[in-house]
Amino acid sequence: MKQIVIDVLRNYHTQKINFTYKSTNGWTYLICANDFRHVAGAIEDGRINVARGVVPAGVSAEYSIRKNGNKDANTLYIGQSNDAPNVFRSVLVHESVHASFDLGRIQMPWLDNEAIAYIAQGCYLLSAGADSKVAEQVLLGLKVAEDLQQGNNQSLWIDMLKDALLNDPHYKPYINGDFMGDG
Ligand SMILES: [Zn+2]
Repeated sequence: MKQIVIDVLRNYHTQKINFTYKSTNGWTYLICANDFRHVAGAIEDGRINVARGVVPAGVSAEYSIRKNGNKDANTLYIGQSNDAPNVFRSVLVHESVHASFDLGRIQMPWLDNEAIAYIAQGCYLLSAGADSKVAEQVLLGLKVAEDLQQGNNQSLWIDMLKDALLNDPHYKPYINGDFMGDG
């Protein structure tokens, strides 16, 4: 199961991801091939676990930073790819962004962390092609990715993406808080 994730993180579409993101508080983050290689390496040597369960079957995944209820620390929970392998792989890329910031012990607003994850996911889908319908945030991430491809890293879609995150009840419990990576 580990290999499913490792293969995605090392594949052509993921390794092409390369962009900078300016956060609300003025920090600039560079997201590139190396970040995904580091996460793949951490999965390979067991610093990050990959497990089934917790998330619903299908095109879903969730990275757990620290132990919380039935979720273990440093664990990427994955569903099954079913009939939309590209969207499934893009979800793994999204969750690996969270894992990468955790490995790097990064502290930052959750809003920026999620926005970056959706943009990386959009970059993956722009390259690989979306093979099913996707959620609003994924579509907005794709729009940002299109602008990035045109050389515009100040895309107006980034604000739309942040608004969509702030207004989605799913993100309410934490989106205004800080992401605290602990390695
Ligand atoms: Zn996320």
